[in-house]
Amino acid sequence: MALIVQKYGGTSVGSVERIQTVAQRIRKTVQQGNKVVVVVSAMGKTTDTLVGLAQEITPNPSRREMDMLLSTGEQVTIALMTMALQEIGQTATSLTGAQVGIVTEAEHSRARILSIKPDRIKHHLDQGEVVVVAGFQGISSRENLEITTLGRGGSDTSAVALAASLKANFCEIYTDVPGILTTDPRLVPSARLMEEITCDEMLELASLGAKVLHPRAVEIARNYGVSLVVRSSWSDAPGTHVISPIPKPRSLEGLELTKAVDGVEFDGEQGKIALLRVPDRPGIAARLFGEIAHQQVDVDLIIQSIHDGNSNDIAFTVVKNVLNKAEAVAEAIAPVLRSTPSNSTEAEVMVETGVAKVSIAGAGMIGRPGIAAKMFKTLAAAKINIEMISTSEVKVSCVVAQKDGDRAISVLCEAFDLQLSSNTAASQTAATAPPVRGVAVDTKQAQIAIRHVKDKPGMAAGIFGVLADNNISVDTIIQSQRCRILAGTPTRDIAFTVAQENAQAACEALKSLSESFEEMIVDEDIAKVSIVGAGMVGQPGVAAKFFTALAKEKINIKMIATSEIKISCVVPQEEGVKALKAVHDAFELAGIETVEVPA
Ligand code: ASP
Ligand code: MG
Repeated sequence: MALIVQKYGGTSVGSVERIQTVAQRIRKTVQQGNKVVVVVSAMGKTTDTLVGLAQEITPNPSRREMDMLLSTGEQVTIALMTMALQEIGQTATSLTGAQVGIVTEAEHSRARILSIKPDRIKHHLDQGEVVVVAGFQGISSRENLEITTLGRGGSDTSAVALAASLKANFCEIYTDVPGILTTDPRLVPSARLMEEITCDEMLELASLGAKVLHPRAVEIARNYGVSLVVRSSWSDAPGTHVISPIPKPRSLEGLELTKAVDGVEFDGEQGKIALLRVPDRPGIAARLFGEIAHQQVDVDLIIQSIHDGNSNDIAFTVVKNVLNKAEAVAEAIAPVLRSTPSNSTEAEVMVETGVAKVSIAGAGMIGRPGIAAKMFKTLAAAKINIEMISTSEVKVSCVVAQKDGDRAISVLCEAFDLQLSSNTAASQTAATAPPVRGVAVDTKQAQIAIRHVKDKPGMAAGIFGVLADNNISVDTIIQSQRCRILAGTPTRDIAFTVAQENAQAACEALKSLSESFEEMIVDEDIAKVSIVGAGMVGQPGVAAKFFTALAKEKINIKMIATSEIKISCVVPQEEGVKALKAVHDAFELAGIETVEVPA
């Protein structure tokens, strides 16, 4: 007999008929000999409707009253679902978040779960009942019983947290799509259903997958090793398995209050190669990394910073023992990239042998501003200069001088209260993991470039500290390689992306630092295209294939940033979807059958 937590989303319980259909499915699961806990969302668009009602009364409703209001949506569903079960002869009981003892922090509208008391649920299960629990809600403590909600999309989080605390055998997320797809099927109709995806990949694909499965739910599944599957409410197809690594033992107290950063990673034996002043036109990155892949050299971090005039800098790191080979390729290709062979002010190769890469990783950094800033600040306080920065959804990597590596690790572990961990993404790679699992485009970001920032410790810390103070979440961050001497001071460029709606506020906030840089350029017409796959670790040629696919479509790359299992390119906005299609095809992700997706 298995214990299964099943979560049904808003569309799956959107009408009385649908609730009845779902009730049949639950009954069937029980008849197969399982104990079932059901978590439901509010019916259809109920939550949106309730938000709309509040907005008609006031543009600034109090967060407490919003929680009071929105939590009613789920309460309607648990009662109706329980009636539907009873009507077909299945004993069942509905319980609110408070009744289940889902205790959260006292943060209205975005509370994190602290603990769950599973006794009451277990009691009902032992009576042979199905327990139907309201998703998305909890109470702030066992004393003052304030109703809280977990943030939009939060019932996934409720379900996985319940599965973790009940030590359920499975957690099934039922939705109106067949599972997780290789890309957004509204943009690329040939998107294919994935059989499986790792939690780390899922988190890096947050911009693609967040609508199907909330990142906080993925984080809990990963931390507690919950066996998770996303599948359709309307068929028996197996859906997509979201695979967790074997978890470190962890207490169920402070369930969701895990640290924003849960790992510090280190690679002390790297070399860095920078190509300065390569032409800013389509095909250059493809050419360079194509050659490198041809030599079977595996590159680690890659960054291309914002262009300067009509040229770019591209830098990458490799493990030390292939540095010579990589350098030879870069040297050989540099003259080819010059517009006139004799023009030596163009395309210059710079090699640095002794560099180390230090990274902080953690799903908790999604949507929490200030994590990158804290890393930069910590390094600055230790007087460690950052040579390269590259970030992704759940990781910030900095390249520093090798001699500073050990110190960087120790100050970071102290600042984030952690021990040095091994590389989690790589260690989770299944032997069969494809180099690219899925691709995503984000067209709602803006790129901000800050030119000629003084090159000394503390500058990145200053910039991202100011943004964090203003509650602005930064997405991809990169720092350029080219060092320009202005009035005797070396300077570099730093660029990053933020949500478009935050671009203006970011610029305003950064004006307070205008002493330390020359100018700030905002570009709202960008799209960020990303590929994600645990199998790209240690596999040469993945980046080259990505860049080549863009080059074939004559799409210019404005910026490149990477992490172990993700490569992102910023391209002109009007080419975003074309780029997505090209890349999806290049990695042969297209399915033969088209996937039915409701409008
Ligand atoms: N009903 C809530 C929302 O619409 C929670 C959920 O459905 O996950 O955001
Ligand atoms: Mg949802």
